[in-house]
Amino acid sequence: MIKYLIGLLVSILAVAFIRAMRGMLMKSFKEALQQDAPASASSNQPPKSGTRLRKCNTCGTFAPETRMLRHSTGGAEIFFCSQECEKKEA
Ligand SMILES: [Zn+2]
Repeated sequence: MIKYLIGLLVSILAVAFIRAMRGMLMKSFKEALQQDAPASASSNQPPKSGTRLRKCNTCGTFAPETRMLRHSTGGAEIFFCSQECEKKEA
């Protein structure tokens, strides 16, 4: 009976240990992914295809399309680098 209890305890501890290790691995993996994303974005490499530079309609600053505020007026699209520029134009 004692052997059975010890075996059960060891298996429970082993499962808990494996789960903890897996959780740590997944956490570090996610952190590595999150750290990688901004690093590649802030590097001097050219933007990925699909990220076009757009000119702010108010101040003329160029910025990636994904960071700009987009307005659709009629068929044309205009872009603003910030909410301040957006307010000035409106
Ligand atoms: Zn602007």
